[in-house]
Amino acid sequence: MFLLDYTYISINCPQCKYCFEAPLIDIRLERSLICHNCKVTIRLQDDSGSTHNGLRDISKVMNDLKQIFKKL
Ligand SMILES: [Zn+2]
Repeated sequence: MFLLDYTYISINCPQCKYCFEAPLIDIRLERSLICHNCKVTIRLQDDSGSTHNGLRDISKVMNDLKQIFKKL
């Protein structure tokens, strides 16, 4: 369940500190982004798989919520 892949989060360019938005899927798939301001290539790295784990946790929470709603 990767509905959240198209949730946008804010990213700060490591070079110019420009803040822009990128979808979580870009981070999960470790895609490279181009800073909208200084055009530097930002290599997204999810070293520990933290985004993936985070998404899984959120999916679990959503499933839990569905279970709760079913009971109501
Ligand atoms: Zn930049």
